[in-house]
Amino acid sequence: MMRKNSVLRKYMSSILLFLLFETVAIMLWIAKDNLFYLLNFSYIGGCLALGTALFTAGKHYARHFVQLTVGSYMLLYLGIISCENMQIEGFWYYLFQGVFEAATIHYAVAKIFGPLLFGRGWCGYACWTAMVLDFLPYKQPKKPRKEKLGILRYVMFAVSLTMVSGLFLMKITNLEKIMFWMFLAGNALYYIAGIMLAFIFKDNRAFCKYLCPVTVFLKPMSYFSLLRVHCNENKCVHCSKCLQVCPMNVEVNKESRKRKNGTECILCYECTKACPTKALY
Ligand code: SF4
Ligand code: SF4
Ligand code: SF4
Repeated sequence: MMRKNSVLRKYMSSILLFLLFETVAIMLWIAKDNLFYLLNFSYIGGCLALGTALFTAGKHYARHFVQLTVGSYMLLYLGIISCENMQIEGFWYYLFQGVFEAATIHYAVAKIFGPLLFGRGWCGYACWTAMVLDFLPYKQPKKPRKEKLGILRYVMFAVSLTMVSGLFLMKITNLEKIMFWMFLAGNALYYIAGIMLAFIFKDNRAFCKYLCPVTVFLKPMSYFSLLRVHCNENKCVHCSKCLQVCPMNVEVNKESRKRKNGTECILCYECTKACPTKALY
């Protein structure tokens, strides 16, 4: 009995995560009278819960498991088979149409309001672009971060907004089809740019740091994230191991939310594993 209780306690966060997604699944299923929402959110919640349970059990492949199961489902099933543009252009498109469907719901949950709760968990566990980039050889950046290049994300953001607004203003017919082709072309470009930047900067996550337009939403919202890596500065011996392993250059050995690159944290927990004094939690 005692053993059962301790196992339950150990995996409590995974159970709660699953229940959270199941609540959203049931609410949307009833509100929209569409079984898709029940299946979609149950699947994503199930993968996340299983992934976090694997992480708790110490399996080093846990994060890749979630990235591959959730990321490829969204890319292949929602994007390619169901023809739903899940990229930022799709968000603008459905928003301008006043449609609260997959892409707008996805942005609201994963990238706009969700980060208030789980920060940039999307970037660490579900993004289909990073799902591929994280297999490249530079898990830890080998060169100093080029802070100024971060401006490019705003350029990308403006380009995507202008492109979709332009299509609407020109009253182009067949927009659904154009959005689908834009999704395919956009993803191909993201993968090519992501892989090239990773090799140029010797950093798997260079695309996330400099070019990804979604970070314009993600960064300010995740500043307030409830879930975050804390640092007990009294326990820190300034060995810098956490800084060396962090893929996102977060100054994680400071507790303040204002720590450098604090809104870049993807909750991969490499730092907590590396800390010799358990100062990070
Ligand atoms: S920053 Fe962009 S590309 Fe990188 S993981 Fe997040 S959403 Fe994906
Ligand atoms: S190593 Fe730590 S600070 Fe860096 S991204 Fe991962 S969880 Fe965040
Ligand atoms: S790894 Fe731990 S002890 Fe070392 S600098 Fe980071 S927080 Fe401090």
